[in-house]
Amino acid sequence: MNLRSGRFVLGVLFFCGPYFSNKSFVAHRCAQKSAQSPVGLGNPVVHKLEPDVLAITGLFHTAVGRGFSVNAGIIRTDRSVIFVDSGMTIASAQYLWHLAQERMSGGEKFYLILTHHHSDHVFGMRVFKDKGAQIIAHKGVKEELENDNGRYKSFIAEKMGWDAKKADEILGDVIISTPDQVIENDETIWIDGDEIVLLVTPGHVSDEICVYHPRSQTLFAGDAIYEGSDLNVSFGGPDEWREWIAQLERLKKLDIRTIVPGHGNLCKVSEIDRNIAYLTKKLQAN
Ligand SMILES: [Zn+2]
Ligand SMILES: [Zn+2]
Repeated sequence: MNLRSGRFVLGVLFFCGPYFSNKSFVAHRCAQKSAQSPVGLGNPVVHKLEPDVLAITGLFHTAVGRGFSVNAGIIRTDRSVIFVDSGMTIASAQYLWHLAQERMSGGEKFYLILTHHHSDHVFGMRVFKDKGAQIIAHKGVKEELENDNGRYKSFIAEKMGWDAKKADEILGDVIISTPDQVIENDETIWIDGDEIVLLVTPGHVSDEICVYHPRSQTLFAGDAIYEGSDLNVSFGGPDEWREWIAQLERLKKLDIRTIVPGHGNLCKVSEIDRNIAYLTKKLQAN
């Protein structure tokens, strides 16, 4: 994250929750934390899309009080584990790690693909980095996150009105690092013969990528697609929203069985139309 960048300062950013101005916002998963849940875990739900493809919804989000959470994914190949987004906290990331670890036989390679640079998708990265994971993201993520030195975490803590102790308690020992491999354009990577398609889909932010897994027909959409809630359009203006619509039109053409949105429940391609309609309405109102 670059604190000097206009994107950061003007973005009012801190996380990419939805606008809550619209009363129609649906809180699909209110936090009913069990006594056993570690602080910062949320109420994760594991969806087995294929025996080796998991979607995890309901992970902790700083807007948890408003029924908001964040999602992630895990794809296992013959000899590797690919994580899509890290959750917002160390507790969430450790949960994802342990989930994958149950099926590990040893000697696997690990990858963490970040859909974009926002805290709710990257703050758990240290857990995977510590395990030797190769981190892959858009070039813009590297620019946003380099030379962090704890600033992003402090920024979130300040926005939430937390002192350092509370931030540590909830977020954990967040250590931001920069991606090991960056892309600028769509790219297909093959991991143990499994095809992983990285699609550059700017709109929500300019460094947004979607992860498409053809074998399971799964689209891990990050914040290119919101399910059931208003979209957070606050990081751009009409030009970005138009671009966002164009990207959504492109995503619609994929052969998709399941969309794992950045936020909300798993959904189908029809949800893309709702996102397009939302953005179209936003454009008309401007
Ligand atoms: Zn988000
Ligand atoms: Zn976001």
